[in-house]
Amino acid sequence: EEWQERGAAVGVRRETDASGRTVVRQVKKGVRDFSFGRILGEGSYSSVYLATDRQTLKEYAIKVLEKRHIIKEKKIKYVNIEKDTLNRLTEHPGIVRLYYTFQDQNSLYYVLDLCSGGELLGVLKKTGTFDVECTRFYSAQILDAISYMHSRGVIHRDLKPENVLLDDQMNIKITDFGTAKLLQDPREVRRQMERGILDPSRGDEDDDGRAASFVGTAEYVSPELLTHKNACKASDLWAFGCIVYQLLVGRPPFKAGSEYLTFQKIVHLEYEFPQGFPLAARDLVERLLVLDPSRRLTIEHIKNHEFFDGQAFGKTLWRMKAPRLR
Ligand code: ATP
Repeated sequence: EEWQERGAAVGVRRETDASGRTVVRQVKKGVRDFSFGRILGEGSYSSVYLATDRQTLKEYAIKVLEKRHIIKEKKIKYVNIEKDTLNRLTEHPGIVRLYYTFQDQNSLYYVLDLCSGGELLGVLKKTGTFDVECTRFYSAQILDAISYMHSRGVIHRDLKPENVLLDDQMNIKITDFGTAKLLQDPREVRRQMERGILDPSRGDEDDDGRAASFVGTAEYVSPELLTHKNACKASDLWAFGCIVYQLLVGRPPFKAGSEYLTFQKIVHLEYEFPQGFPLAARDLVERLLVLDPSRRLTIEHIKNHEFFDGQAFGKTLWRMKAPRLR
C-alpha cells in the first residue's frame, strides 16, 4: 500500500471509441506498454530485463521484484529506500535514472536507464588494470556523480565497481541505492536552521536520526562504520579511494580470506602500493584512505588534486568521448 507510483499521465494513447472516432487519452505507463526482451542480470531480490517502450521504441532496463519474495525476506524497507532515493536523483547523467514505477498483482517494476556496457567491474576484469588516463576519466565521472548525490542529501554507502554501470557510450551510471542513507532535505535543513530549531551539525544525519546499521561490502567499508557504526558523506570518499586504487592495480586495497580479516586490515590501515604505482595517484589515495573521516580530502580538494590536473568536471566531462580502455 505504501508503494507510490511514479510517472502518472506520462503518455498519450489513441483509442477508437464506440462511435468509431479516435480519442487521445493521457495514460500512465504499465507493464503492457513495454515489450520485454532478454534478461540482463539477476540480483538476490530481482531480475532485470531489457525492455522496449512500444510507443517510442526507446530501450530501458526494467527491474522486476517479486512482492512475495520481498515480503518474505523483509526487504520492503530497502525497496522503498531505493525508490525514494532514485526519485531524488533524477538530474545527473552519472546516476541510473528511474523513469516509471508500476506494479501488478505479483510484482513491482522499476523502469531504469539501460546500461548496455555492463558493470565497471566486468570491464576491469577484462583489461586487468586501467592505465592512468582511463583511471582519471572513470574516477572523475564517479566523483562527479558522488558530488551530485551528496548535494542532494544522499550517501550511497555501497560504492564499488559492481555498482558502477556503463551505458552504450561507455559513460558511467551509479546504481544500487537500496542501502543508501537519505539525509534531511537540504532546503528543509536550511529552513529549520533559520528558525533556530535545528543544530547545523545535524546535517549529516538520517531523517529520523537513527544509528546506521552495517551495510556495504567488506572490501569497501569505511573504518568509521566498523568502529562507530556510523557512515557519513566521507565514507563514500573512502570507497572512492578504494576504487581509484582498484582501477590501477586490478584488486581492491583491503582484501583478505574472510570478512573479519578484511575488517582487521581496514581498521589498521593495512595495505600496500605495488611497485610502479603512479605517484600522483598514490598521493591522492593516501589522502582518501585516512582513518579519521574528518581528515579525508573533500570533493573540492579531490577535484583540485594534481592527479586530476587538466581534468574537466561538470557538463564537459559527460560530453567527452570516453578513452579507449587500456
Ligand atoms: P543484489 O540484489 O544481490 O545485491 P544486484 O544489486 O546486482 O544484486 P540488481 O540491481 O537487481 O541486483 O541487478 C541485477 C543485475 O542486472 C546486475 O548484475 C546488473 O549488472 C544488471 N543490471 C542492473 N541494472 C541494470 C541496468 N540499468 N542496465 C543494465 N543492466 C542492469
